[in-house]
Amino acid sequence: MDGVRDRIFSCCLSTCPCLREQNPDKQPDAQTPNSRSPGALIITNDHTQEPQAPAPENPQNREEFLALFDYSARTDEDLSFNAGDRMLRLLKDDQDWWYVRALTGISANRTGYIPANYVAQVESLDAEPWYFADTKRLDAEKLLLSHGNQHGAFLIRHCESQAGELSLSVLDSGRVKHYKIRRTENGRCFVSKSRDFLTLKDLVQHYSRNQDGLCVRLGLPCKKSEAPQTYGLSYNTVDQWEIPRSSIRLLQKLGTGQFGEVYEGLWNNTTKVAVKTLKPGSMDAQDFLREAQIMKKLRHPKLIQLYAVCTVGEPVYIITEIMSHGSLQDYLQKDQGAQLGVGDQVEMGAQVAAGMAYLELQNYIHRDLAARNVLVSENNICKVADFGLARVFMKKSEGGAEDEEENVYEAKEGTKFPVKWTAPEALHDNKFSIKSDVWSFGILLYEIMTFGQMPYPTLSNFQVVQKLRTGFRMSCPPGCPKVMYEIMMDCWKDSPSDRPTFETLQWKLEDYFELDISSYDDANRY
Ligand code: AMP
Repeated sequence: MDGVRDRIFSCCLSTCPCLREQNPDKQPDAQTPNSRSPGALIITNDHTQEPQAPAPENPQNREEFLALFDYSARTDEDLSFNAGDRMLRLLKDDQDWWYVRALTGISANRTGYIPANYVAQVESLDAEPWYFADTKRLDAEKLLLSHGNQHGAFLIRHCESQAGELSLSVLDSGRVKHYKIRRTENGRCFVSKSRDFLTLKDLVQHYSRNQDGLCVRLGLPCKKSEAPQTYGLSYNTVDQWEIPRSSIRLLQKLGTGQFGEVYEGLWNNTTKVAVKTLKPGSMDAQDFLREAQIMKKLRHPKLIQLYAVCTVGEPVYIITEIMSHGSLQDYLQKDQGAQLGVGDQVEMGAQVAAGMAYLELQNYIHRDLAARNVLVSENNICKVADFGLARVFMKKSEGGAEDEEENVYEAKEGTKFPVKWTAPEALHDNKFSIKSDVWSFGILLYEIMTFGQMPYPTLSNFQVVQKLRTGFRMSCPPGCPKVMYEIMMDCWKDSPSDRPTFETLQWKLEDYFELDISSYDDANRY
């Protein structure tokens, strides 16, 4: 797979270009020193600089792409387009924003930038409307059962249980059925041994015309969910992310947090964002900027994306993606929370675990994981927010064997931390690690299962500290399945090393409802 869809639906790992500091291929063209190649890594705070003309078109680099989603231009330099429009990529680089010429649609014949994760190469598998490469089984079910999909709606996705295999998910009378797509020795694909095909497209065409043993004849491809988040607000804020304060208009207050007020804002009069304003003097601007540099590189569909900052003047603004339902804690306590079933609750936990598993992989610690720091948007989409911010209030440990370990931090003297969410070793010895995040995740699961109830509801902070020393743990909340409670208890093991990893927590929660595999005509449906 050529990676475009990968970038839509899945995380960017450390090997992904978006996390690389610098790519030699992305340096400005030596022969055109004044040109700003869209691939160049430009770190500058010069907002007055006019965008310069990109390097001349190179016919050899031309590639044609198809838009998968609609996009409205946010600046004078990018192009609006609709799903189905075609465009020619004019410069070859692997940045998040590509310089293209639109061939069809509202921007036909114009050149400008487009978000790379909104397009796929023409005639590639990624461009097929039914190809949902990295959609997980549970997500496939959710997608097919929503968005007004009709009987026969389908998609093809990667199979979670077997790397390299594909699955066909089909909506049949309100239920989703899954078929494995297997390959013959010579690479032909099939769902039933009785008939194989050269390509997936041939397979889809066949079962769109004939039911031929399938539970239902294939109908329309599953409708796409919302367009993905772009990487950065525009091509030049990806690297040049100190933005002028004047480009942000504050619209309405969304809430007040530990660091200051949060607003819904409009960037460049085009793009809705969340603006976190930091109370003047609440943290050292240099410390914050250093941390924000790291936070900006952490990208995952289950982490709130940091878009830009305004650190010139006060208050400091942190510009992030906006989530329509606000914090998970509020969401759970309100009417929407009351409508959640156990399946939704488990799935929300799985999403948080997925975001945290990515941080774990990046050797990064959240330090303040709680329902108040998870944000929710449509369809119960959850993303982890405020990762790293707590660190700005902490310092790296000095001295001592254990302290040499890269990821252990001490709270600065006098730092307040949320006692009921904090692991014992962090409370008593100021040792924060990914395993103290796991402890907090157990508390977060408790919050989810109790619809946002305060943990240890009858105990004061002081009593909690005392009782945890004696081995005390919260009991299973009413209505919480035993398996879910066991996961919480695993997170609350005394010894940090006995607690599970986020990777394990993610798969345990994702596989929570895994159904038994049963057969259809040839043991292929599951
Ligand atoms: P915080 O400072 O992160 O604790 O945020 C305070 C409140 O602002 C939260 O409880 C949310 O209701 C709201 N909020 C913060 N960030 C966002 C965001 N990115 N999108 C929507 N609402 C937000």
